[in-house]
Amino acid sequence: MFDFAKLGSDFSTPISTQPLDQAFLIHKNIDLYNQLGLTLSDAKLLKITNGEIKFNNTTPVASIYAGHQFGYFNPQLGDGRSCLVGQINNHELSLKGAGSTPYSRHADGRAVLRSSIREYLCSAAMQGLNIATTQALSLIGSQTPVHREQLEKGAIVMRVAPTHIRFGHFELFASRGQTVQVKQLADFVIEHHFPDLKGADIYVDWLTQVVKRTAVMIASWQAQGFAHGVMNTDNMSILGLTIDYGPFGFLEAYNTQFICNHSDHEGRYAFDQQPGIGLWNLTRLLEALSSLINAKQTKNILKTYEQELIKTYSSLMRQKFGLTQKDEGDHQLINQFLNLLQAHKKDYTNSFRNLSNLNEFAKDDSFSSWIERYHKRISQEDISNRAELMNAINPKFILRNYLAEEAIRQAQDQQKYSKISTLFDLLSAPFDEHIGFEKYAQKTPKWAQGLSVSCSS
Ligand code: AMP
Ligand code: MG
Repeated sequence: MFDFAKLGSDFSTPISTQPLDQAFLIHKNIDLYNQLGLTLSDAKLLKITNGEIKFNNTTPVASIYAGHQFGYFNPQLGDGRSCLVGQINNHELSLKGAGSTPYSRHADGRAVLRSSIREYLCSAAMQGLNIATTQALSLIGSQTPVHREQLEKGAIVMRVAPTHIRFGHFELFASRGQTVQVKQLADFVIEHHFPDLKGADIYVDWLTQVVKRTAVMIASWQAQGFAHGVMNTDNMSILGLTIDYGPFGFLEAYNTQFICNHSDHEGRYAFDQQPGIGLWNLTRLLEALSSLINAKQTKNILKTYEQELIKTYSSLMRQKFGLTQKDEGDHQLINQFLNLLQAHKKDYTNSFRNLSNLNEFAKDDSFSSWIERYHKRISQEDISNRAELMNAINPKFILRNYLAEEAIRQAQDQQKYSKISTLFDLLSAPFDEHIGFEKYAQKTPKWAQGLSVSCSS
């Protein structure tokens, strides 16, 4: 049994996976595979990803959790289409789409190829961008029919993370008054994932770390233009990992109010709302842990969120502009640039990538006076490798919706997977030039401008 399963039946239920028909391996993350110290053949990896054979003879389990969805508490959710199948090298292996579980709530427990490709590629993209995320080890396709708006095919992604525990796991037990289980789960997370904490106020120290990691994660999303789309508390990792890739999106034309989830009519999870929602979600988490920390401690812990977020965001933005020293006017300089991007609907990623090569901007009159100020500012700092430093934080490649869509169409219509492979390589090393692959750094072409990402997955 693996560590989480050992917590027992209050936390998870053993399940049987329901393998897909005629499953085939589409891609595997070789770096991750090596890091985990795996030695499986591809044939065996396929069978494990498909739930046909067990990993190290381990019985899979589905865990139970709750969560605030779009602001409203749902007292019981759970791994409705995912399950934990084992553990290696302090990482849990989780299948998404391997069939129904006791928590499927009348849904089919499946994941379609389209959304699995998106999750697989975005996990690699976030890792490439140095943003904390669950990882994806393997992606398989199949002939199993799955009913959504149209008939699609089932697929499975094997996710990897030290733990897949979410804020919602704590909320479930707290809402039921099961403070013993809340403590058990907190102690489990501390023992296995925060082993260096030893102080007298261990829960305070731990939650301060959780707040910090969440703040750093969201600051990184804001700096690199990532919108999660469904920041429900059941989609918030206790390790501060980006988790559950659904209708996510990267900013293209800069727009602070960008909403990537078409079902989010109120814009609750709009791009510029993410930092505030992070605090709202952490507040729900700390409420759920109120049996372990008092009100004053809670207040003090939550107070650290904004500081951490601003500190990390400012630091990342300064790096994106190639600024190594602080100057009073920097905040304004940065905001003016962002305002120009928004006013002129400039591509967020490409504008930053081009900033290290000012010739690109010289052609653009609307930026000329800003560029003059920026020139003056950077000439105060005598740095020989500024362009190099900037290119190490301003990606050339992000997972634009149209790129994912091209890979999806190739997979669905032609049963070919080369675009997945190409995108995986580019997105895993998004700061490298990848000469010859410039077209993958291009803005959304006309054909794809009306693309909308379906929420069903
Ligand atoms: P999500 O919005 O994808 O994070 O899902 C919210 C909840 O619904 C989670 O508990 C999922 O496990 C569950 N869920 C989503 N899709 C399915 C499905 N096709 N079958 C079973 N459970 C699902
Ligand atoms: Mg979820």
